[in-house]
Amino acid sequence: MKTIDSLGDLRGKRVLVRSDFNVPLDGTTITDDGRIRAALPTLTRLRDAGARVVVTAHLGRPKGEPDAKYSLAPVAARLGELLGADVRLAEDVTGPSARATVEALADGDVALLENVRFDARETSKTDAEREELAGELAELADAFVSDGFGVVHRKQASVYDVAKLLPSAAGDLVLREVESLSKATTDPARPYAVVLGGSKVSDKLGVIANLLTKADRLLVGGGMVFTFLAAKGYGVGASLLEEDQVETVKGYLATAEENGVEIVLPTDVVVADRFAADSPHDVVPAEGISEGRMGLDIGPASGAAFAAKLADARTIAWNGPMGVFEFDAFAGGTRTVAQGIVDATANGAFSIVGGGDSAAAVRRLGFDEAGFSHISTGGGASLELLEGKTLPGIQVLED
Ligand code: ADP
Ligand code: MG
Repeated sequence: MKTIDSLGDLRGKRVLVRSDFNVPLDGTTITDDGRIRAALPTLTRLRDAGARVVVTAHLGRPKGEPDAKYSLAPVAARLGELLGADVRLAEDVTGPSARATVEALADGDVALLENVRFDARETSKTDAEREELAGELAELADAFVSDGFGVVHRKQASVYDVAKLLPSAAGDLVLREVESLSKATTDPARPYAVVLGGSKVSDKLGVIANLLTKADRLLVGGGMVFTFLAAKGYGVGASLLEEDQVETVKGYLATAEENGVEIVLPTDVVVADRFAADSPHDVVPAEGISEGRMGLDIGPASGAAFAAKLADARTIAWNGPMGVFEFDAFAGGTRTVAQGIVDATANGAFSIVGGGDSAAAVRRLGFDEAGFSHISTGGGASLELLEGKTLPGIQVLED
């Protein structure tokens, strides 16, 4: 991949940076600024090089038109605090305000364009529409740096098309993400253990299929595990179940057996009466979930067994919480597994955490992020790399 160095002397040059500022908001309060912090190394480096930095990003899911609820104003304010510099926010994406804002930049300044998804062309399936927006973005800059790892799996104007119009490079975050994930996908140190959880098995079918040929052990928890338990013939009560995936999962169990991949499922489950923080709950055997009760976490024996399967691993990838960690009563499995990964990492394993909710769980449960080798900022993008896919936003940066 082309790096920022390949762009040459950037003093006085306008550099368009695609960042991932899709942070969780409560009204206009940013509840987790991890993604903004992750963007700082590249932005600081460009400022230090004397570039005039123009950042483009999206927030939430506006419907292709301006929507005050999704304004990047809170992000501009937080970014300014973190950089210790004024970050001006343009009122539009590529319109008169954007042009004037860029025009007013001095060397080392940073400006932010308004939410790029306020423009429907950003995500258009029609190449010509995306290319038109990309052309307008390109007019605002002399070079492009792609640093929004969370969006590199998207063929979108500000990610993919604009990179074809300007001298382009991968930013430091994208480089670090791709390097880390490659350690797991190409020739991982073995044993290679993968922990999968989260809500839906259908979100992660591709990655499971690919891992059945690559990983040594696959530990499954979270909401998706009930489709696995159903595939083994167990009743799962009112737990999350994707009936239409049961046959596929049966196939996975068979493939795993053929390939000598060990699939580790929970032997006990924390079941609740209802989906609520204060619901009555009990630990029951995995094959004993009664009608009407729902599994919201793996049980303590399973957590310990999962941790034991991680202890001697040399490479670990984790995507998806083991339970509904947002409720304290159902956070135990996720905590035990996270601790197991931290311990294995201290013993020399290379560990990756992918998935927005998994990374949020690490922070919410009070783990030191330094205990993991790499915490990915991109859920979908990291999954697609683990799946072995070629990502458009990465491919376009290759020489
Ligand atoms: P990630 O963002 O890390 O890829 P997902 O988005 O796939 O993870 O899933 C995260 C969500 O899965 C969390 O909000 C969590 O509450 C939910 N979850 C985990 N276990 C269960 C379960 N047993 N039942 C219902 N939801 C679950
Ligand atoms: Mg998620």
